[in-house]
Amino acid sequence: MPLSPALIAVVRGLRGRCPQCGRGKLFAGYLKQAPACSACGAATGEIAAEDGPPWLTVLMLGPLLAALTFVSARQEAWPLWMRLGGLGTFATLAVLMMLPRVKGGLIGVLWGMRPPA
Ligand SMILES: [Zn+2]
Repeated sequence: MPLSPALIAVVRGLRGRCPQCGRGKLFAGYLKQAPACSACGAATGEIAAEDGPPWLTVLMLGPLLAALTFVSARQEAWPLWMRLGGLGTFATLAVLMMLPRVKGGLIGVLWGMRPPA
């Protein structure tokens, strides 16, 4: 079953690639969007995800971090500094890893929702 063009744009965005062609890079830095695709010239920089990526990242990671916090709070054998340090490190790394992917995916969603030219 072939994927819809909108879903293909989302998958390409999740991979940090141009939602139009899938070859060019979507980002010129960690989260800075490239003004246009280096491969096809699509104006991907015009798609503004605004506050959506941080909001969606927190929405996805929040329940996991809440559960991990609850579980670690019950581990009284572990010192407090180890529990807090482990949770803080995990939360920071998880957010840093997910944020560009979520932003790319959201840009792919917005790209797929554009009206046909
Ligand atoms: Zn492209």
